[in-house]
Amino acid sequence: MAPFEDDALRPTRRSRSTVLLPPAPPERRLVGIAVSAGIAIGPVFSAAERRAVVVRKKIAATDIASQTARLDAAVAQSRQQLLKLRARLGVLPEDSQAEIAPLLDAYLQMVGPSRLLRGIRRHITEMLVNAETAVVDASEEIAAAILAMAADDDDPAGRERHAEEVREIARRLVRNLTLTPFRSFAGIPEGAVLVCEGLRPADAALLDPSRLAGVATDEGGAEGHTAVMLRALGMPAVLGVAGLSQNARPGDTVVVDGGAGVVTVNPSPATLTTARRGVTAFARAQQKLARLRRLPAITLDGETVELQANMEIPAELPLIAQAGAAGIGLLRSEFLFMNRETMPNEQAQVEIYRTVIEAMGGDPVTIRVLDWGGEKDIDALQSEGLVPEAGDQNPAFGMRGIRLLLRRPEIFETQLAAILRAAMAGPTRVLLPLVTTVGEVRAARDVYDRVAHRLRLRGDRIPDPVPPLGIMIETPAAALSADALALEADFFAIGTNDLTMYALAVGRSDSEVSALYDPLHPAVLRLVQFAAQAALRVPMPVSVCGEIAANPRLVPLLLGLGLRSFSMNASAVPRVKQAVRAATIEGCVRFARRVMEQSDPARIQAMVLGQHRAE
Ligand code: PEP
Ligand code: MG
Repeated sequence: MAPFEDDALRPTRRSRSTVLLPPAPPERRLVGIAVSAGIAIGPVFSAAERRAVVVRKKIAATDIASQTARLDAAVAQSRQQLLKLRARLGVLPEDSQAEIAPLLDAYLQMVGPSRLLRGIRRHITEMLVNAETAVVDASEEIAAAILAMAADDDDPAGRERHAEEVREIARRLVRNLTLTPFRSFAGIPEGAVLVCEGLRPADAALLDPSRLAGVATDEGGAEGHTAVMLRALGMPAVLGVAGLSQNARPGDTVVVDGGAGVVTVNPSPATLTTARRGVTAFARAQQKLARLRRLPAITLDGETVELQANMEIPAELPLIAQAGAAGIGLLRSEFLFMNRETMPNEQAQVEIYRTVIEAMGGDPVTIRVLDWGGEKDIDALQSEGLVPEAGDQNPAFGMRGIRLLLRRPEIFETQLAAILRAAMAGPTRVLLPLVTTVGEVRAARDVYDRVAHRLRLRGDRIPDPVPPLGIMIETPAAALSADALALEADFFAIGTNDLTMYALAVGRSDSEVSALYDPLHPAVLRLVQFAAQAALRVPMPVSVCGEIAANPRLVPLLLGLGLRSFSMNASAVPRVKQAVRAATIEGCVRFARRVMEQSDPARIQAMVLGQHRAE
């Protein structure tokens, strides 16, 4: 029970002599922002956090080195903490990976060579202040500059989030500099509801959804990263509930209705009954989705479709299994090379590939060899001088994908050797990124055969024959040479993300031209169709692993083009399966024919995105 001391409405000790049972405390209904659906009922657990105290100090020029060293240590410690958080992502339920990883990556970038760190160092050396003062002042300067741009920007919420990210990293640095402990969630009793004034996104990543019933906070909004995280964790949550922590004391019963955005403190019996019914209804809806996961991906007229998962980090493995994906259609191996200063050796790679292959329990795993590209910064490659420094050139057109691997055979051979050895654990395929010519495939196959030969001589066990060697069709050159490439490769994986970028000359992450980025543009669809037909003529396996594979509305068109294999983020599998199960191949073929007759992108958008069923 909550302490009664400052609640005038509660019975006094004196009244106990006349009233045997104290009257139930009054129900309080507080409205906030609905952030994550679901209903939680449980006792309040309030996790307060000790504030970090910054003592502002001027320093002598002779102290610059020691203050910079303190900053460096705090940066290294923050980086370690964030890497640990990132490694923890595996325990999170579906949808969470894709949402949370970019935020942690943004934080990690800020504790790398960033504008923030440069600013902090400048403050120490030019303003002659201690490290914590420099952190506070430099971060506020940057956050203010970001917010000042919001006035004439059409994404003020995005700017606010960005400013908050800068402040969040500053708070972490200050905590580490002042040795102020971080809030701990270790003692949360099972089934409790976390109530606090505010919750950082990094805190949210530490919550264990299997122990905690829900979350409610005084601060926060629907757009913030904390909200994104809580949704990703599938935890009922209401944020921005003014006055919550004053009204809900530790031990009070609360109901958090994350769909309605309401927190009820000390609920009446009637409210509790309604809430319990809500919990059951929500669980039933979730179960329905889970049942769909176990059903086969088969069209109404009996055609089986392969639905696989794309994987970016090993932490996604449990989600992939939960989603009912039939293997991994695209393992982006870049994660192995990121956030580290040295290249991973053959044995380290073998262990990771083997874990993934074994986890798939006999379902195939397609490992794409390193696709280092403009958007993906890989410290290890840079620090070991394996790639050129990023210059003014457009990285999309530079030394990336298979080009880099052929230029740096030591990276390529190590990775191929590791994949070949791990492939003894289950069905595996090797995928080459960013192919543009037949010569690249031939050269890659030579390297592949040479590595296999060397491993056999060395006495390593590898599969015989070696796993299939396929190629990404993600450049217009590859799509238009698909007939020739089909003679060299063992399978195609159509990557519509880059294919759209190169076909339309529109950067994938350039917000200036994002409205022009249209994978349904007839030029892109014709490239997809040409490549698919070249594969089907052989016939050889062909799949789609770009983002379009995750959109259930595109299923009829893709099935109608003859495609039967799709790889997507794991959380999209159930919805795509639903679309497959609602389609007939005959209807899809008719529909695709009509779409492919169109030349106006807007008309295609209306036809494809405006319809739900092929029939
Ligand atoms: C693609 O380009 O469509 C693709 C799947 O590869 P990535 O997104 O990793 O570039
Ligand atoms: Mg690509």
